[in-house]
Amino acid sequence: MKGKVYLVGAGPGDPELLTLKAERVLRNADVVLHDDLVGPQILDFAPPHAQRYNVGKRCGKKKISQAEISFLMVHLAFSGLRVVRLKGGDPLVFGRGAEEIAALREAGIEFEIVPGITAALGACSSAEIPLTDRRSSHALIFLAGHHAVENDPTNWQALVSSGATLVIYMPGYQYGTISRKLQAAGLTGQTPCAVVSRATTAEEQVSATDLENLAGAPQLPAPTLLVIGEVVRQATHNALVKQSISRNSTLLQNDLPVGPARSLIDEGRTA
Ligand code: SAH
Repeated sequence: MKGKVYLVGAGPGDPELLTLKAERVLRNADVVLHDDLVGPQILDFAPPHAQRYNVGKRCGKKKISQAEISFLMVHLAFSGLRVVRLKGGDPLVFGRGAEEIAALREAGIEFEIVPGITAALGACSSAEIPLTDRRSSHALIFLAGHHAVENDPTNWQALVSSGATLVIYMPGYQYGTISRKLQAAGLTGQTPCAVVSRATTAEEQVSATDLENLAGAPQLPAPTLLVIGEVVRQATHNALVKQSISRNSTLLQNDLPVGPARSLIDEGRTA
């Protein structure tokens, strides 16, 4: 009997951000093929007898090629095993999911995709950056930063004119290049941006600045994400950002809403 492959998202780092479905699938795994970004606490959900293989990259160097990963998945499933292909974040966001799906279809292997919380969502929750805000950003663009350096296919002008919040995955330390390209495409140097490192883990760090000063931002440990757009002004982590927003932290009695919302608050008080 043929086995089955599950393409599973492990979320951005915090094990509690794994979905219930991902946890169930992991608990029933015979084999786990995982990326480097997946931490040990998440791998621990797999039963002790399950084989675990790290098929990820280390320091940018692939230990095993994409073709070899697909070959492994297909052959393990052919031998009747339940194979979990576990990726950081969501399996279909910058995760070579398309190539793996194609290989599984071609081999006629049954598969299922279990989504995960992609890094942008985890990072922006931790840094308290609303990805959209009806006052300043009504669209989101996720893009891969490594293209900014070589054979850049990115249409920076189109990105900038969309007015979207930009989240750059895999920015490396190309802050200067990215900043130059965005300013050349029309974003002002005062546009706020943040680098979020190891989001949702115990080692998370956030550094907020603006485009003009991005090149000099600290080189925080990988993995990092770069978030650019007016919404970043609302991040709480950085004094620079905090100073630049006037925030009324105490809600005065007089500011309380009237009508149904007010009754709810009053009921809560007397309950
Ligand atoms: N499939 C993943 C993305 C894989 S590409 C997802 O949906 O999140 C790898 C890139 O994701 C990293 O270079 C980094 O830019 C980003 N990334 C993944 N986890 C991260 C984390 N915890 N903090 C910051 N960036 C992260």
